[in-house]
Amino acid sequence: MSHETAQIIFYLLLTVFLVPYILLLSDAVLDTKLSCRWGWHNGKGVSSDGVKFDGCSVHARCSKCGKDVMQDSQGNWF
Ligand SMILES: [Zn+2]
Repeated sequence: MSHETAQIIFYLLLTVFLVPYILLLSDAVLDTKLSCRWGWHNGKGVSSDGVKFDGCSVHARCSKCGKDVMQDSQGNWF
């Protein structure tokens, strides 16, 4: 593997790992709700009575955009 190839792979990996942080940062600083638009909601900011379990999945209201969201088996909101 040449030095240039290794460098390209390094920058590709760096970009892939940085994207979620850039999304979170822009959401926190600019309140862009970018992650919501990309289907990555935040259900953690809701009050406990706002979280409902219907016997199959957990429902909550996204603290950023106010949309009703569901939690998957990995704990992510969509
Ligand atoms: Zn949202």
